[in-house]
Amino acid sequence: MALGFQRLRVYFDASNRRGLLLPDRPVRLGDVIDDYCPRCRLLLNHDVASLNVGLVAKTTCRTCHNTHDYRNAEAPPKRPTKKQLEKQKLFDEVLAGMGGGGAVPAAPVPTPAADEPAPEPAPPPPVRKKRDLWAELERIRKK
Ligand SMILES: [Zn+2]
Repeated sequence: MALGFQRLRVYFDASNRRGLLLPDRPVRLGDVIDDYCPRCRLLLNHDVASLNVGLVAKTTCRTCHNTHDYRNAEAPPKRPTKKQLEKQKLFDEVLAGMGGGGAVPAAPVPTPAADEPAPEPAPPPPVRKKRDLWAELERIRKK
């Protein structure tokens, strides 16, 4: 019994809310609707400023009073930031280096002839010792 009453109430609340959001009458000049304001860069309340064949053509932002074309209450897609563009560029460079289509062929390994001595392996790169400034100072003093 109590449950049925609650269900009935919820039904009425929902119908009221739907009635507020979607009026059955056509949009008129001066109506308040949501739209994206390019100056405020936000979805805000707008007044309908002009209509074209029953459809909203221009709206005026109720916050900054900027009149602009109706944008269907949709924010434009975000432009990538400079940092994101740089990151994408680097990413593309790396991908190009890995070689998807234009793969760089590996250098052929030369096979040493039997009478030729095998080429010496390249010496390991010199390990840079950390400079001990105190030891260097002592050495200079001794000179
Ligand atoms: Zn605005």
